[in-house]
Amino acid sequence: MHTYHQPQIETMPPEELRKLQDERLKAQVKHVYESVPHYRQLMDEKGVKPEDIRGVDDLWKLPFTSKADLRECYPDGMLAIPKSECVRIHSTSGTTGKRVIAYYNQHDIDLWEDCCARAIVAAGGSAEDVCQVCYGYGLFTGGFGLHGGSQKVGCLTLPMSSGNTARQIQFMQDLGATILCCTPSYAAYIGETVKEMGIKPEDLKLKAGIFGAEAWSDEMRADIEKSLGLKAYNIYGLTELSGPGVSFECEQQDGMHINEDHFIAEIIDPETGAVLPDGTQGELVFTAITRQAFPVIRYRTRDICVLHRGKCSCGRTFVKMGRPMGRTDDMLIIRGVNVFPSQIEAVLIQQGYSSNYQIVVDRVRNTDTFDVYVEMNPEQFSDAVRKITLHERALVEAMRSMLGISPSVHLVAPKSIARSEGKAVRVVDKRKI
Ligand code: ADP
Ligand code: ZN
Repeated sequence: MHTYHQPQIETMPPEELRKLQDERLKAQVKHVYESVPHYRQLMDEKGVKPEDIRGVDDLWKLPFTSKADLRECYPDGMLAIPKSECVRIHSTSGTTGKRVIAYYNQHDIDLWEDCCARAIVAAGGSAEDVCQVCYGYGLFTGGFGLHGGSQKVGCLTLPMSSGNTARQIQFMQDLGATILCCTPSYAAYIGETVKEMGIKPEDLKLKAGIFGAEAWSDEMRADIEKSLGLKAYNIYGLTELSGPGVSFECEQQDGMHINEDHFIAEIIDPETGAVLPDGTQGELVFTAITRQAFPVIRYRTRDICVLHRGKCSCGRTFVKMGRPMGRTDDMLIIRGVNVFPSQIEAVLIQQGYSSNYQIVVDRVRNTDTFDVYVEMNPEQFSDAVRKITLHERALVEAMRSMLGISPSVHLVAPKSIARSEGKAVRVVDKRKI
């Protein structure tokens, strides 16, 4: 028996879902054209009027929105309703530059919390659960989003926010947390600490983890599942579209269902802007068709991924997106070769290392330097220098065959790379170009 937070919507037949999207898109385009001068101007420049958009098939006619547009309109140029009707703001973590402010009215908060509640139920959550939320609370959307979703499901909600790992573990034990919500890097760190404290996964009551807000790999998933004794589910989202819960994994743990009653997804060629067919890798673009205060149209996420349409054994009809490979602006170009941090992480985990690493890129006499610092396992720490050199060589070789170029690999002492309680900092690019 499958359970859903909103069964009629989550399992809606595709043709019906499409009709719903058509209606909502039409209304949304009219709403932004009438209330946001920036959109009106972009549409006028392209020669598109709201009446030209009769449904999803006409989506391609609309202009894209970029992060630069949102920054240009900082702080409230994109607001589509009177400010007095808004009840909250959030803002991006600013991973890649100046923050963007997103506004919400109560309707927008409700739909966002429903999206997060769907994710929690898909991970097996119910009113019987104790849900520990250790995403940051505050401007960052992670904490409040999962918090609201957890309450909608009826879970006993522990609003821990991030940090103070010893206290996290104590509450986890004393209150019998069954669901853990945080970034995957923080989950890995909690797993590491639990082990150090001599606590076994079976001493904890955790059954599911809802991890997202940053890129992570299947190898890292396996590690966290083992160290905490739970099933780890991926969740994706971004502030511009509410926050976490834009898409979420079901019991299949194989791609994230996009909440298509609220968000229409497209994959485009990042160079030309052309729409690509399902199954092709490209940049993910979203149109928010129900948000009222801050509705983005064809927003370019810069996340690279693939969409898969087809029947899922969980019964949900929403399209699935694969793991984002990284962002177009996450991609490093080192000596002319494209390198994603996720590729390096995959090699490390395949070879039995943790995901604690840092990539440092610099430019010396016009040549890129490429260094990867990796923590040794505690067992390796006592190895002779000669043996450590061999381990380093093996890593260089594996990375060369994955990437096509060789980094310098440095094995460093366990715990010497700073841990993150939110999104991890994996890349330090010192080049001044
Ligand atoms: P910022 O862009 O400042 O980091 P957000 O905090 O809104 O702002 O982060 C949204 C971004 O986080 C997404 O565009 C995506 O790159 C990344 N992200 C969120 N969830 C995931 C996930 N499950 N897997 C990979 N990347 C993710
Ligand atoms: Zn499914």
